[in-house]
Amino acid sequence: MRQMMVAGNWKMHGSVAFTQEMMTGLVNKTHLVEGVSMLVCPPFPYLAQAVTLAAQSGIQVGAQSLVDITGPGAYTGEVAGFMLTDVGCHHVIVGHSERRAYYHETNDLVAHKVKAALDSGMIPILCVGETLAEREAGVTQQIISAQLDAVDQVIGKSEGGWTSLILAYEPVWAIGTGKTATPEQAQEVHAFIRQHLALKDADAARQITILYGGSVKPDNAAAIFGQADVDGGLIGGASLNVDDFIRIYNAANVG
Ligand code: PEP
Repeated sequence: MRQMMVAGNWKMHGSVAFTQEMMTGLVNKTHLVEGVSMLVCPPFPYLAQAVTLAAQSGIQVGAQSLVDITGPGAYTGEVAGFMLTDVGCHHVIVGHSERRAYYHETNDLVAHKVKAALDSGMIPILCVGETLAEREAGVTQQIISAQLDAVDQVIGKSEGGWTSLILAYEPVWAIGTGKTATPEQAQEVHAFIRQHLALKDADAARQITILYGGSVKPDNAAAIFGQADVDGGLIGGASLNVDDFIRIYNAANVG
């Protein structure tokens, strides 16, 4: 059974005071419903604080990245999956387009990060998506296939494999730009992703949660979440406001 989720990616925003205010607001004002989970992904320094503030509320806290190594070691500046689970995070965003573009995360590195997340007992939220130039060149499906195939090469044979992941389709041209994919454009790519995954693992393709991300706001969320293959959203800018994020969460209660 596919689960709906609304996940907030704070990116490099926040402070101790902001985390206190956001989490308190979400905990006090959100009415969580069965079948729709809420996840909040603050920057590393605020994760433990957010987990403490979310305690008992049902709101989950996840991370925005991790290193592709599972054990402790001499890797200055890096954060591993076991540290994230240790502070109470069970989800981690992997392969966000900003990491791919600014930190040179290749399809292969992203695949190994997905594996490291799984090996640490975490649920990776794997982001895929095309740039505007790629969409205009008509190669959206090839780009997304390559992103998925690279992960399949690394995790395809492992136990659980694709069933342990969440996917996020995030057209790069729609992230932080105010340009949202139309509900039909989102549905078309989500359906393609499910179809492509079915070639590797038909059960996983049926069950996997596929979020849409890219300028989702309270006013457009319901139309996007209402599409057959869209299971909620990964929200950037609008996740930094308690009321907007809750309105988007409520829009995911389509059942
Ligand atoms: C994102 O960064 O994952 C995202 C979807 O951002 P925004 O909602 O601001 O476009």
